[in-house]
Formats: sequence, structure tokens, C-alpha cells
Amino acid sequence: MAERFKNWIGGEWVDAKNGETFISTNPADPADALGAFPRSTAEDVAAAVEAADRAFRDWSRTPAPKRAEVLYKVARLLEARKEDLARVMTREMGKVLNEARGDVQEAIDMAYYMAGEGRRLLGYTTPSELPLKACWAIRRPIGRIGLITPWNFPIAVPSWKIFPALIAGNTVVWKPAEDTPRTAYEFAKLFEEAGLPPGVMNVVFGYGEEAGRPLVEHPKIDMISFTGSTEVGRDVYTRAARKLIRVHLEMGGKNPIIVMADADLDLAVDGIVWSAFGTTGQRCTACSRLIVHEPIYDQLLEKLVEDTQALKIGDGLEPGVQVGPVVNEAQLSKIHQYVELGKAEGAKLLLGGERATEGKLAKGYFYKPTIFVDVTPEMRIFREEIFGPVLSVVRARDYDEAIKLANDTTYGLSSAIYTRDVNLAMRAVEDLEAGITYVNHGTIGAEIHLPFGGVKDTGNGGREAGLAALDAYTEWKSVYVDYSGRLQKAQGIE
Ligand code: NAD
Repeated sequence: MAERFKNWIGGEWVDAKNGETFISTNPADPADALGAFPRSTAEDVAAAVEAADRAFRDWSRTPAPKRAEVLYKVARLLEARKEDLARVMTREMGKVLNEARGDVQEAIDMAYYMAGEGRRLLGYTTPSELPLKACWAIRRPIGRIGLITPWNFPIAVPSWKIFPALIAGNTVVWKPAEDTPRTAYEFAKLFEEAGLPPGVMNVVFGYGEEAGRPLVEHPKIDMISFTGSTEVGRDVYTRAARKLIRVHLEMGGKNPIIVMADADLDLAVDGIVWSAFGTTGQRCTACSRLIVHEPIYDQLLEKLVEDTQALKIGDGLEPGVQVGPVVNEAQLSKIHQYVELGKAEGAKLLLGGERATEGKLAKGYFYKPTIFVDVTPEMRIFREEIFGPVLSVVRARDYDEAIKLANDTTYGLSSAIYTRDVNLAMRAVEDLEAGITYVNHGTIGAEIHLPFGGVKDTGNGGREAGLAALDAYTEWKSVYVDYSGRLQKAQGIE
């Protein structure tokens, strides 16, 4: 029997009201269960929102430096438990241990960064157009915020939402992904241990339509912050629009790397392999389109294939493994369907294109790193997010064509160019339609103190991380104090 875990509502650990559960399993070995979790419904969500509502008054009035003290404690607990959390994460969603450590490290960095904001949360003062009148603008909390997160960064992505939301004085209800409830549970426990007052953060486990949707639609939820697929994000946005609430969306990507003929090819190949096959291609910023300047096409491909073939696939907990399993069976079959589609569309399969089943791999959801060449921009493998270890390669005659290909997508999260020509590099920073551009580095590796997010169908204009996160999780209030003792009218009205 799998160990049984509960929702965290108003500071209590409680079962779903219907008593139902779902099981979380290890994608490297689905017989290994990480626990049974409440299969929550609208009733449980409502209880969590009520708890967040009750906690809001006191938490929002607690001075921000005091709120920060709790965040500092969570940061220290995260540091102390980093290894345990990373191991649970690898066991639950498959990313290799080193990357899982990086995932936890992002949360540590974000916790310290946002705790520091407890003594800033800067607004601004500005002169009035009238005498004897003062003006300033301050950040206020939004209220009760619903957080819905994906499984691919089960601690980092929630941390980008939870820490800025809490430091700003909001209370939250978090619905973690159904593929990573155990990791979410272990993370949430640290907030309890750090002494976060009851109800300030609530966790409701369950499936998207059963628990996520009621959170979006609950009348007392003042904002939704969602990270996940564009398809679900569109549904969330549409439903939330009826309530006219703020919605922060971080969604899919189809991120390009351009390699120009003058690039350092060894450096480029290192970056491509890391960006396309790191985290088994399951990053929103993963590189899935490679655009190669014609003169170096054959040379680059040869080295890329050689280095990709050398990647070690296996259980992410084993030392030396570079590519773990994909998250679940549905994702495995989706990836394979795209590979079949790519072949049917006329792309040439250069490498991979099948499950990895040698020895112990047979029991898990392992897929070989896959490279398609002779891809054209009309093909669906060039256009749609596959979210697995599949790279589509196209040729470009020159810089302008490379940029045109890179921008020929509905997504706009990350992008990269390899070149030694500083002029081209600077032009690409302007020309690439994406929220993030790297020069001489692959598409992955964002740092927490810079804004993170995308343009086009990747987002709806907001940014996470960095100071931009405060814009997402606060409302501006403008304050006017007239100390003239008489009625003064703005805009020169007599
Ligand atoms: P998903 O959209 O299937 O699920 C994300 C979350 O939404 C889960 O918690 C799920 O339970 C919930 N959900 C599902 N249906 C819902 C509904 N109808 N109403 C409310 N909630 C619902 O995504 P996923 O498979 O968990 O994650 C992979 C996706 O996330 C990829 O598209 C990836 O690019 C994207 N992603 C984006 C970023 C970013 O910052 N841009 C970061 C990580 C992942």
C-alpha cells in the first residue's frame, strides 16, 4: 500500500472530502509508488480558498520584513534538505539528480531574493503639480491567489510564484501537477516547519479539470498564476476573464538555436546537446529547432550526432546518467506519435526515434534522443511543442533567413544564436521574437533575478522572476496627500 498524504488547508492536513486518492509513481520504474494523494474536487478547493481568505487580513497587515523572516527560514530549510528534495524529485518525475539539485537551488535563490524584498518592495515618490501636496505610489497585495503549476520544474516553478506572492502579502492556494504531488508535499512541509501562519499557503492536490478548474472559477480568487501548456492556459484565461481577474500565464515553447558559419562549433554543439536533450527535452525553454547556416551544416551535424549518441540514458538517480525517463506513459506515446508524424511528413530521421529498452530501461518510460533533418517549416514537428528529446534541424542560407525561420512560430519563450560576429549577435538580440535571447549559449539556463517569460502564445505579457515578479503579484496604489488646507484642483481647473 502506498503511503497516504493529505491536502494542507488552513494549517491542517486533511483528506479530500470524497476520500478518493490517486497514486504518484516513478517514471524510471512505475512499480515504485511515491504515495497516494487526495483526488480533490471543488469542495476541497472551496475550503482552501476560504482558509486563504481568513488568513489574508492578518498576513497582508504583517510588516513585510516580518513576512520575510518566514521566507528566510524556508530558504535555510531548503538548503538543509536540498539533497533529499532532489532525490524525491528525480524519483517522481525522472530528471537526473544533478538537474534536480539545480531545480531546488532555484527555489533557494528565489527564497533569499524575495525575502530580501521584504525590506524593499520599493514604490516611488514623485512631485505633485500643485503646491503643498505630496504624491507617492506603493505596492499592495492583490488578495487570494490561485497557483497552478506543471511537473517539469516541480519546486523551481512553484517557488517563482509562492515567494513573490507571499512577500507581497497575498495568501495562496496551490494546485501542484498531478505527476509531482510528493515533491510538492515535501516542499510545502517546509513552509509549515518555518512557521507560516495557518491558511497563508494552502495546497490542494488533484487533477487539472477536477481541482484546477474550480480554483480558476472560485469567486473569491483574485488572481490566477498558471504555468503549463498553451492549450490549458487558454482555457484558464478564458474562464478567468469572466471574473475580470488578473491572470499570469507562462506556457509552451518551440525554442530555436541559430548557428552561424563563424561560430565556435564545439561550443555550439555542447549548447545544443544540453538544450535539446537535458531534462530529456522537457523544459519549456528546451531547444527543439536547430537552424544551421549552410556552410557548416555537414560539419556541425556530424559532431552533433556523435555527441548525442554518447549520452547515457538511465535512471536519473544513477551516477553518470545524462538523460532520464520522460514523465509518464502518455507523454512517451505522444513523443513517439510525433516521431511517426515527422517521418510521414517527409523529414529524415537521423538518430533515435524509438523507445530505449535495453536491460532495466524496458520497465521505464525511456526514449532515445532523436534528431530529424530535412525538416521544412510547414511540418508539424517544426511547429508544435513535442516536449521530449526530439530536435528538428533546418538549413539557412544566411542570417536573414535564419531569423525568419526562428521567428516562424506561434511561440516566443527562449532563443539563441552562436556567432563570433558581434554585429550579428547584437542584431539577433533585437530580431529574435522571444522573451529570452542567449548569445553563444543554448536556450536553457535562466537565472532567477532576471525576468522570465515569453511573447506570442507563450504568455500574456507578464514576467516571472526578477523584480518583474513583483509587478505580477502586486497592485499599484497611488496616494495623494493635500496639506494646503484648501481645495486645489489638478489640471489647472479654476
Ligand atoms: P499542463 O498544461 O497539462 O498542466 C499544467 C497544470 O495545469 C497542471 O497542474 C494541471 O493539473 C493543470 N490543469 C490541467 N487542465 C486544467 C484545467 N482545465 N484548468 C485548470 N488547471 C488545469 O502542462 P504540463 O504537462 O504539466 O507541463 C508541461 C507544459 O508546461 C509545457 O507546455 C511547457 O512548455 C510548459 N511550461 C512552461 C513554463 C514557462 O515558464 N513558460 C515552465 C515550465 C513548463
